[in-house]
Amino acid sequence: MDFNLLLDSHDLDVLFVSSPHNVRYLSGFVEGKDAKIVITRSGATLITDGRYMLEAAAQRFPYRILLKRTEMNRLLAEFFRGRVGIEAEHLSVATLEGFKKDFPDLEFVPTTGLIENLRKRKSPQEIAHIRKAAQLADQGFEHILPYIKPGVREIDVALELEFFLRKNGSEGLAFSTTVASGERGARPHGGASERPIQAGELVTLDFGCVVGGYCSDMTRTVAVGRVSPELKSIYQAVLEAQTLALEAVAPGKKGQELDALARQHLEGRGYGPHFTHGLGHGVGLFIHEGPALGQTSEDVLEVGNIVTIEPGVYIPGLGGCRIEDLALVTAEGHEVLSRSPKHLIEL
Ligand code: ZN
Ligand code: ZN
Repeated sequence: MDFNLLLDSHDLDVLFVSSPHNVRYLSGFVEGKDAKIVITRSGATLITDGRYMLEAAAQRFPYRILLKRTEMNRLLAEFFRGRVGIEAEHLSVATLEGFKKDFPDLEFVPTTGLIENLRKRKSPQEIAHIRKAAQLADQGFEHILPYIKPGVREIDVALELEFFLRKNGSEGLAFSTTVASGERGARPHGGASERPIQAGELVTLDFGCVVGGYCSDMTRTVAVGRVSPELKSIYQAVLEAQTLALEAVAPGKKGQELDALARQHLEGRGYGPHFTHGLGHGVGLFIHEGPALGQTSEDVLEVGNIVTIEPGVYIPGLGGCRIEDLALVTAEGHEVLSRSPKHLIEL
């Protein structure tokens, strides 16, 4: 990686990287939250503490071990000079105040998205991790279907699913699992409650695996027994909107263009006001990263982006439905990484 280009872009002498995901992305150091990277014209140095001697030696950069947290600024004095870029979205106010006090002659320059922009385009290895995470999620969906029945609590479905995923290789959960049944389906990120699932309801499952540090993200909505014509028509409308937007994923497409495809379809079906979030987001080391696919997104898709396509309809008092796939942007268009079936499954 050419760090000089990065420094040049903001006319910086130094960049102090404190975002855990950015630290991991650059160095390969897994516990990014317990390390920082300081980038200067002569290269990058990782700083961590005594718990991580072995890990520090295995990552990509020269490293320094801090034995006391209070020694941080004394160590940084060896690297800091001139204009020091900080990650405005990740550095605490307290840390910045400490920098300003200890380095009164330096200029601290807030930056946003410097490393995040690099993270949008996935390498073959990153793609391989996400592909594997998506495959594992597909297996989890197949595994969980027989557990979803009247009388079973949402939380028990979520726990069974999470146990399966962890046992089969997921390093953790990409985010907290949603199992939202009946009326609770009207909450897009409803989590999983102690509510027993009932016959005649839609149940939305949104979950993700982590492989090699990389997340997957998928949502499916299933019916428990027969559901009302109204719920069926919501499902149908969401499926059509999702298919329309997914099929259009290709390099050069703008986030807002894809959002509009799904949104206009749902508007045509009378559900416009009930699609209350953006169409999708990039996925990588973090579950929500660039590019954004929302109503105002100017982000343009590029080969190597991995994004979700996840329209939904949420009607308070009635329920909701969301269908979400993970797609890799390729030169030819896209490849869908989540393969679970999308027709209405009536359990
Ligand atoms: Zn999701
Ligand atoms: Zn998502």
